[in-house]
Amino acid sequence: MAGGKCLALIAHDQKKNEMAEFARRNKDPLSKWKIVATGTTGGRVLDAVPELDVTRLKSGPLGGDQQIGALISTGEFFVDPLTPMPHDVDVKALMRLAIVYDIPMALNEATAEKLIPTLHA
Ligand code: PGA
Repeated sequence: MAGGKCLALIAHDQKKNEMAEFARRNKDPLSKWKIVATGTTGGRVLDAVPELDVTRLKSGPLGGDQQIGALISTGEFFVDPLTPMPHDVDVKALMRLAIVYDIPMALNEATAEKLIPTLHA
């Protein structure tokens, strides 16, 4: 994955349905990207759009957010952590890396939709 452009998708807690629908709606632009996702999110995205190139990492509570954070330092990522407070520390850690490496990052669906047309694989 190093050197290749990659998109990260994370949907916390009750946001899984929104993320699956987001993936279905944006199937064409997303299909041009290698996607990494936390475990459950990746499974739901693949159920919704099986043809996407999704690598499922660990589930968020088991370290998946940190795995994505580690990949951010070597790639270019668009992160969509639709999350409530229990995941605050994970989101803040990812925000810090996005700022340091100047990586586009969406924290909600409206911003994610605005970023989609700007993605060039
Ligand atoms: P999950 O991880 O996609 O495996 O649920 C995200 C989360 O921490 O909720």
